[in-house]
Amino acid sequence: MAGVSLAGVSKNYGAVNVIRDVSLTINDGEFVVFVGPSGCGKSTLLRMIAGFEGITGGDVLIGVSRVNEMAARDRGVAMVFQNYALYPHMTARENMAFGLKNIGTPKAEITARIDKAAAILQLEPYLDRKPRALSGGQRQRVAIGRAIMREPDVFLFDEPLSNLDAALRVSMRTEIAKLHHRLGATMIYVTHDQTEAMTMADRIVVLRAGQIEQVGAPIELYERPVNAFVAGFLGAPRINLIPATVATVDGEVVELVCPGDARMTAKVRTGSAKAGDKVTLGLRPEILSPADEGALSGTVDVVEQLGSMQLVYATLADGTSIVSELRGGTAPAIGSVGRFAIGNGTRHVFNAEKLSITLHSGGGA
Ligand code: ADP
Ligand code: MG
Repeated sequence: MAGVSLAGVSKNYGAVNVIRDVSLTINDGEFVVFVGPSGCGKSTLLRMIAGFEGITGGDVLIGVSRVNEMAARDRGVAMVFQNYALYPHMTARENMAFGLKNIGTPKAEITARIDKAAAILQLEPYLDRKPRALSGGQRQRVAIGRAIMREPDVFLFDEPLSNLDAALRVSMRTEIAKLHHRLGATMIYVTHDQTEAMTMADRIVVLRAGQIEQVGAPIELYERPVNAFVAGFLGAPRINLIPATVATVDGEVVELVCPGDARMTAKVRTGSAKAGDKVTLGLRPEILSPADEGALSGTVDVVEQLGSMQLVYATLADGTSIVSELRGGTAPAIGSVGRFAIGNGTRHVFNAEKLSITLHSGGGA
C-alpha cells in the first residue's frame, strides 16, 4: 500500500507546457478523481505517475520512493485504459496472466490470482473467451482484472468507462467503488465526466490547462467552488452564471442588478465588492424555480419532463440562458415570458476575475 505525492510537477512537449507546477498529496487508500475538460492534461499527469511519460520538472513519489527515473513496471502501479488494450488473439485468462507470466511468476500463483480476480469481477464464465466474444463491459472487467492480478499499491484508471453505454457506465461505476472498498488500494481515476467525479471520489482534483484549480471532497467543491470554472464544471444541469452589477454594498450584503433590471441581494466577504463592480451571480438550478412572483424574468425556451421534476430553460433579457427546476405544478408555456424565483441555498458571487467572493455560512471562502 502506498500514497502518491506530486511536488511541483511539470511537463513540456517542446515549448508547450501541458502540466504546470502541480503539487498534490494523495493518501494511502484514497480514491482521487482527476477531472477537467478534454486536453487539460489529465492523461499526461496519470501517465507521468505510471511511468509512461517523462517528467520535465518536479518530483513524483510513490510511498516514500522518488520514482522520476524508475521504470513503469517497478513502480507498483497498474493502469486501466479507456480502450481496454487487450490482446485480441488471447483469451481473457491469457490476457490476465500475460504480465505475470512475463516476469516468471509460478503458474500456481498466477492461477490463484486469476481465480481471485475473476471472482471479484464475476468473470468466471468468460475466462476462456477471446475479447471479440466479450461485450464492452466484460472487456473492461478483464482489463481491470489484469490490473488486480498485479496486486499494485496504486491503481490508475484513465477514462475506463467512456466506451460503455450509459447503463453499463452506471453499474461499472458501482463495481469500481466496491472494488476500492474491497482492496483498500490507492486509486487515481481520470474522467471528463463530472458525475463520475462527484459519485466516486473521496477527493476531486479539478484541472484546467495543466493546473490544479481546486482539490477537495465532492460536496466541498460543489458548495464552495473557488471560481466560476469549478462551479460550472461540477453539477448537472450546470450552474446558472448570470452577469450582474453591484448596486449597493452594506457590509456583507450586496444588492445586485441582473438582466431585465432584476434586483436581489447576496452575501459576499467584507470588502470584496464595491458599487459599480461587474460580477457574476451563480445560482444552481435546484434553487431556481418558475414562480409568478419570481425576481428574474425570461422567455421560456424548452421544458424537459424528467418525471421527478421538470427542467425549465429560459433566456434572460441580455441573452443569458438559465435552467430551473420545477417539482410539481404546471410548467410555463414555451415562448411565454416566465418569472423565476430564487429559493434557499447559496447565491454564489464571482468577481471580474471569476474568483468566488461568496460569503458562506460558517464564514471563510
Ligand atoms: P486530457 O487527458 O486531459 O484530455 P492530455 O493529457 O491527453 O489531456 O493532453 C494534454 C495536452 O497535451 C493536450 O493539449 C495535448 O494536445 C498535449 N499533448 C499530449 N501528448 C502530446 C505529445 N506527445 N506531444 C505534444 N503535445 C501533446
Ligand atoms: Mg485523456
